[in-house]
Amino acid sequence: MVISLDQQLIKQIEDICVARGVRLTPQRKRVFELICASKKASSAYELLDELKLSEPQAKPPTVYRALDFLMEQGFIHRVESTNSFISCCSCNAHKHYSHLLICDRCANVIELQNDSLVALLEENAEKHQFQITNHVIESHGICATCSAEKTQ
Ligand SMILES: [Zn+2]
Ligand SMILES: [Zn+2]
Repeated sequence: MVISLDQQLIKQIEDICVARGVRLTPQRKRVFELICASKKASSAYELLDELKLSEPQAKPPTVYRALDFLMEQGFIHRVESTNSFISCCSCNAHKHYSHLLICDRCANVIELQNDSLVALLEENAEKHQFQITNHVIESHGICATCSAEKTQ
């Protein structure tokens, strides 16, 4: 049997939760699976609609609580400018800031990690004695797949 990447990821977060002593409830796990299964960034309401297929009693707070948990653990990221969610490309990493490339055509999001970019932003802020507590680094545009389709 070929183990898909998604299943590997889910196994990985299950192990991390055990190691951290936090509870990956079936609902939290299901929401993570749905986020991984989607090629594009998912909104909370899209996730709710899909969750309802397996758990008809699911309500918005069910999804929001699951999303909060998954973000806290660093398994997913919120895409601030579109208010949607993606799985993290390195679930095992410590808290990190990502540069997100957001395709406005297909809503696919590419997560990049560039420490020198974050260091540069911090350096800029330091010049103003400004202490950064959070970064939102998001770029909008057209992804390679969509731009290839356009030229055909
Ligand atoms: Zn990440
Ligand atoms: Zn695209």
